[in-house]
Amino acid sequence: MPTSGDHTGATRPHVVLLPSAGMGHLVPFGRLAVALSGAHGCDVSVAAVLPTVSSAESNHLDALFAAASPGVRRLDFPLAPFDESQFPNADPFFLRFEAMRRSAPLLGPLLAGAGASALVTDIVLASVVLPVAREHGVPCYVLFTSSAAMLSLCAHFPAHVDANAAAGRAGVGDVDLPGVYRVPKSSVPQALHDPKHLFTQQFVANGRGLVHADGVLVNTFDAFEPEAITALREGKVEPNFPPVFAVGPLLLVKFPPAKEPAGYMRWLDAQPARSVVYVSFGSRKAISPEQLRELAAGLEASGHRFLWVVKTTVVDRDDAAELGDLLGDGFLERVEERALVTKGWVEQEEILQHGSVGLFISHCGWNSVTEATAFGVPVLAWPRFGDQRVNAAVVARGGLGAWEERWSWDGEEGLVSGEEVAGKIKAVMADETVMKKTAGVRDAAAAATANGGTSYRSLAEFVGRCRDA
Ligand code: UDP
Ligand code: UDP
Repeated sequence: MPTSGDHTGATRPHVVLLPSAGMGHLVPFGRLAVALSGAHGCDVSVAAVLPTVSSAESNHLDALFAAASPGVRRLDFPLAPFDESQFPNADPFFLRFEAMRRSAPLLGPLLAGAGASALVTDIVLASVVLPVAREHGVPCYVLFTSSAAMLSLCAHFPAHVDANAAAGRAGVGDVDLPGVYRVPKSSVPQALHDPKHLFTQQFVANGRGLVHADGVLVNTFDAFEPEAITALREGKVEPNFPPVFAVGPLLLVKFPPAKEPAGYMRWLDAQPARSVVYVSFGSRKAISPEQLRELAAGLEASGHRFLWVVKTTVVDRDDAAELGDLLGDGFLERVEERALVTKGWVEQEEILQHGSVGLFISHCGWNSVTEATAFGVPVLAWPRFGDQRVNAAVVARGGLGAWEERWSWDGEEGLVSGEEVAGKIKAVMADETVMKKTAGVRDAAAAATANGGTSYRSLAEFVGRCRDA
């Protein structure tokens, strides 16, 4: 029973969503769930693995099911036993990806029991989930949780690796994405330089698997990444590529407002329009203590107001450090009049839509970038890891802000000095052109997601295919 009727007689497809681990993956799936169950008239189930890796994921799932029920239901996805000790020192989120990948056969009974019209899997699980869905006769789509540029890299990377092997070339160099642009070697995710890395093995397998998907949804929009989206759709990146649905920026899930506004929101209320620099490097990477100190010095010397979310561990449950110790003696006291520094979880979407925020220093996790497009906040890009340099290039090309390319991963190009940070903040905050271009990106994002816009139509087309399946 893959579809059911509603009061208008139209069938309601039942779409099962399968996110992997980490907020960067869960957040866009939650947004997709709400978009599908709302304006697009689908029944939606979200398959979840418990316990989650981080507390943030667990809180987010609870809030999602509370806010979006009954249109969005939960399906428990059990994990097969998995011996993590064979991957010593591996990132806990990568380990969870691997555990879920090995449990893919358990999805079969889950899909059959749910009566799914279609499955949407996270990219990191794609190569193992696609065959299971096919075996059960369920159409299977992929949600790509990063940029279309990164999707092009994922689709093309296996061919790049094969060409290197055939030519006897060792190592990964610059990668020419056919029809898109060149990704310099320095922007290729660190792990991909090591063919034996768990991430590389998954990445190549998923890239090869993509051609077997019924379609790929990507959280971006035509006007923001025209080259990559067009090249993918025209088969230039990979000749047999399935249909691409650019459906972003996926919009916020409206959770019920907290009884009391959070302290940082009250603080923002008291600041002048567009005066605050918001600083966050995402939910899951720490910055070295030395770089943290330089950043602190830079924020202080910029003279601007700032709201800084400091993160010191990969998994939030492990974070026990004291802010005062991390940032150096007297820092918090010296900036008290014009800054708020916190180690806690913040509602970033609420911050980015607050009128007092004028600049976002961001690691360019893709969700953060899409949120900045939706709210028209200029980004000063400071990529740290993984796909973030590729995304930073999208930010700079797309007119969403600035990227000083030397500002990069920890350890490789050396420390970025406080003086340099301060100079760049002052320059971008004073740059009217940056503000104007960013407002243009925000308007284009709003047009894309409005009824009849490119992203709205793409999502409607996807739902139409689920309904006809
Ligand atoms: N986020 C948040 N509060 C925080 C940290 C992160 O709301 O304190 C959200 C952020 O808005 C985004 C997601 O968590 O939606 C993080 O995803 P992103 O792709 O930006 O980066 P990642 O954390 O995966 O590196
Ligand atoms: N990714 C991919 N293929 C894979 C695994 C990941 O294309 O097999 C993409 C995915 O979109 C992700 C990005 O690479 O957003 C970086 O992945 P990672 O897991 O390192 O970062 P996270 O998104 O968890 O912060």
